[in-house]
This record gives sequence, C-alpha cells and structure tokens, in this order.
Amino acid sequence: MTVHQNFIGGEWIPAGNAAPNINPSDVTDVVGEYARASRAEADAAIAAAKAAFPAWARSNPHERYEILMRVSTEILARKEELGRLLAREEGKTLADGIGEVTRAGQIFGYFAGEAVRIAGEKFASTRPGIEVDVTREPVGIVAMITPWNFPIAIPAWKIAPALAYGNCVVIKPADLVPGCAWALADIIARAGVPKGVFNLVMGRGSEIGDVLLNHDDVAAISFTGSVGTGRKVAQAAVTAPVMKKVQLEMGGKSPLVILDDADLAVAVEAAANGAFYQTGQRCTAGTRLVVTEGIHDRFVEGLVERMKQLVVDDALKPGTNIGPVVDQNQLDQDLRYIAIGQKEGARLAWGGERLNRDKQGFYLQPALFTECSTDMQIVREEIFGPVAAVLRVKDYDEALKVANDTTFGLSSGICTTSLKHATHFKRNSDAGMVNVNLPTAGVDYHVPFGGRKGSSYGPREQGHYAIEFYTTVKTSYTLA
Ligand code: NAD
Repeated sequence: MTVHQNFIGGEWIPAGNAAPNINPSDVTDVVGEYARASRAEADAAIAAAKAAFPAWARSNPHERYEILMRVSTEILARKEELGRLLAREEGKTLADGIGEVTRAGQIFGYFAGEAVRIAGEKFASTRPGIEVDVTREPVGIVAMITPWNFPIAIPAWKIAPALAYGNCVVIKPADLVPGCAWALADIIARAGVPKGVFNLVMGRGSEIGDVLLNHDDVAAISFTGSVGTGRKVAQAAVTAPVMKKVQLEMGGKSPLVILDDADLAVAVEAAANGAFYQTGQRCTAGTRLVVTEGIHDRFVEGLVERMKQLVVDDALKPGTNIGPVVDQNQLDQDLRYIAIGQKEGARLAWGGERLNRDKQGFYLQPALFTECSTDMQIVREEIFGPVAAVLRVKDYDEALKVANDTTFGLSSGICTTSLKHATHFKRNSDAGMVNVNLPTAGVDYHVPFGGRKGSSYGPREQGHYAIEFYTTVKTSYTLA
C-alpha cells in the first residue's frame, strides 16, 4: 500500500514512519497508510512557512482569490468521492459525509471572496494636520490542530481564512482521520499555492504537538478539540517568550429546552437529530434535554419511538441513519458513561447496547436516560457519544436556569410556539449559538461559529468574524 505523505515546503516528503487509517464501520478495511511526521519534519514545516511568509503576506489578493476558488471548485466537483472517504474514515453516514465536504467547498468559496474584500479605515485625527489609517495585516505563521469529528470542514474553516488574509499554515489533523486532510492538502498543493505557504504534518499530538505549540516562529495557534488539550494549548501560547495569539474551540454539553407548548413532532425530531445524528459526536450535540412537566411523558414516549426507527449500521450502507462510534477508545468511553448513568440512579429509558452488524465495527445503540438530576456526571460531562439525558423541570424559568447550569456554552436550543419564551431564551441563554425549534447542531458556513464559558476562548471562527483572528490591526499616523 502506498503511503500518503506529509506536504512540507511544496514537496511530498517520503515517510519515515506511517500508520494505518481504519474504517470504524469495518475494522478489516484499511482506508490507507498515512505518514506520521517526526519532530524534525514539524520543524521543517515551520521553517518552510517562515521562508514563504514575506512574499505571501504581500501577494496580490486576486491571486489568493483564484487559488481559493480553485480549491473550492475541485472540492465541490469531487464531493461524492470525498464524502465517501470521509464516511469511511470517520463513520458518519455518506449523506452527512457529502454534506460536510460540500460545506468545506463553500467555505473556500466564501473566503476566496473575503481575500479581495480586506478593507481598512480612515479616521480624522484629534491633532491638526494628521491623517490616521487603520489597516489589517496577516498574523504570520498559524499552527492548526484539529479534531477527528469533522475531518474536512474544520481544517477548511481554519485554512481558508488563514490563506485568504495572507498567513502561512502548518496543520496537524487528528491522527484518527488523516485521509480527508491529506486529500485537501493534495487539492491545495495543485491549486497553485507558492512553496511553503501551506504545510501538512500528520501525526500524534503527543509526538509533534508541542513542536507546533512551542516554536518561536509560530505567531498564532488555532485549536479545536477537547477542553483538556485546549488548556495545554493556551498555556503554551501564553508562556512562550513572545506570547502567541490563540483561538480554542472545545467541548460542549448543549441543552435543548422543550416547553409544554412545543409542537411535539418538531421537538422529537430536533432532539433525535441533535443528540444522536453523527453518532452524537458533534461538539454542538444537544445531549441535555430539559423538558417541562406538562409535555415530559409524551415527549419521552415520542423520542423513544423515534429512536427505535433509527438504523445503526455501516456508514456507507444506504438507509443507515447513524454510523459507528469512531474507535474502540470512544466506544469504551460511551459505555463507561452509560454504566455511570445507571449507577447514579438515572433510568435508562432505551438503548445503550453494543450492537453486532454484518461487519465488525464499533456499533452502539443510542441511549436515552430519564429521571436525571443536574448533579449527575452524565448531565455535567461531555460524553461525545449518542447518549442523552432528560431533565424534568416545572416551568420555563426553571428550564432556563437548568439550561445555563453548565460550565460549557457552545450551543443551545428551545422548542416552543411562544414568541415570548423564544425571544427571552435567545437573549438569556449563555451559549454562543442559539436555536429555536431546531436541533442544537447544524450551522451555516457564512456566520460566526463558537461558544462561551468553558467551550471557547479567543476570537470566533468563520464568516467575516474570522478576520479578527487571522489578521492584526495597524494604526498609522501621517503628517499631511
Ligand atoms: P483532542 O483534544 O483529543 O484532540 C484534538 C487535537 O489535538 C488532535 O489533533 C490531537 O492529536 C491534538 N493533540 C492531542 N494532544 C496534544 C498535545 N499534547 N499537544 C498538541 N496537540 C495535541 O480532541 P478530539 O478527541 O480529537 O476531539 C473531540 C473534542 O473536540 C470534543 O471535546 C469536541 O467537543 C471537540 N470539538 C469542538 C468543536 C468546536 O468547534 N467547539 C468542534 C469539533 C470538536
């Protein structure tokens, strides 16, 4: 099997070390062999980016527009094939894989346009005869560290703005899913980026992560992943001799409030989709279902019926709604939390069984706990699997309090037909993204994405707001 190589300084580098990428729907299926970068290779990627930066920072924005458009066009033209690769390596369904690839293509198209829309501001000075200009410049070399659950969309939403605004990139994708990142690197390599502007180093965080985090030539780090790793990233960034700009998108435990006046079918669908689709492996998954007592029993009954219809099987099989858990470690974590929930006294209303299918994969029946309380671990901690907890509350006021009673603040939702409660919830939810009569997961590509409290740190990602992280502002005074 040929080894997919790292891309450093405009060259594909023969691998000293490689590891197989395994399909979680069928562990006998090896998606490919992917290089594991050494520390010296991570260093070389940063050196290549440093050499490329001065010219790229001053490149013509239309050149950057054209490169990013070529990337967008190729991703969209190959969305079926890349969606299949994504479903095969990560385990989300083919439809979800194609959807994610489409989003990656749209993001590159959006930021192609942003490259030619970089504007400055002119101010009247408070001193006579002076003009004041405020302009934006690229930050420098941006190191990117990404998680396994969105193998192409998250690299895309970091790489596209970084390149659009004139930065150089060194990206380390999650070692569980190097396939989509490699395919994206191959597209970017052929789209005409100058040598060294974009570099891919695949490998383990524990092996090469600290090179990216601690290198003096890295000016900024964009990280998406767990809170634990995020904390290490932040510490490295602020204890460096020259502190680095840092952006962290981390975990969630998003609440979906269901009020007595909700449309039951809408609420059941929003809950089933938000908590269990993509195997619950979304940072925005709505896994805390906060339900007022008048609708509680009907809602639980409806959701259990809906869960019984969900087909858990091979991600590539037509008709599958929910693919496998990503790997054995995550499956063990999900099962551990299901056991904890039972020990804590919650009632397992449905699911939670390990499933056998034709192929040997990590299949888990979605699980619903009822009779939960706010102090339980299954209510407070991110499980990152298809496991949801129902909290029964008296009324809207208690629902809002319970919804906000979390250290996380990524996304939230409410199902109601009351404009008054929907409006109040939008204003008073502690989350960075709020959904009304929709699942907590599911976002547009042209608006900011991110959270509050323990979920996020630093400037927002995506949409025009991405400019805050990927540029730095300069104020110039001229005696006219
Ligand atoms: P993780 O923290 O284990 O790994 C994320 C990345 O960090 C990987 O590339 C990993 O190799 C790297 N890494 C690990 N240790 C490192 C170290 N010491 N130094 C440098 N890099 C290191 O997270 P994961 O399991 O890949 O992803 C799941 C988590 O990501 C969940 O908590 C989920 O909520 C979160 N997530 C958040 C968002 C968001 O935008 N808020 C989006 C997707 C996923």
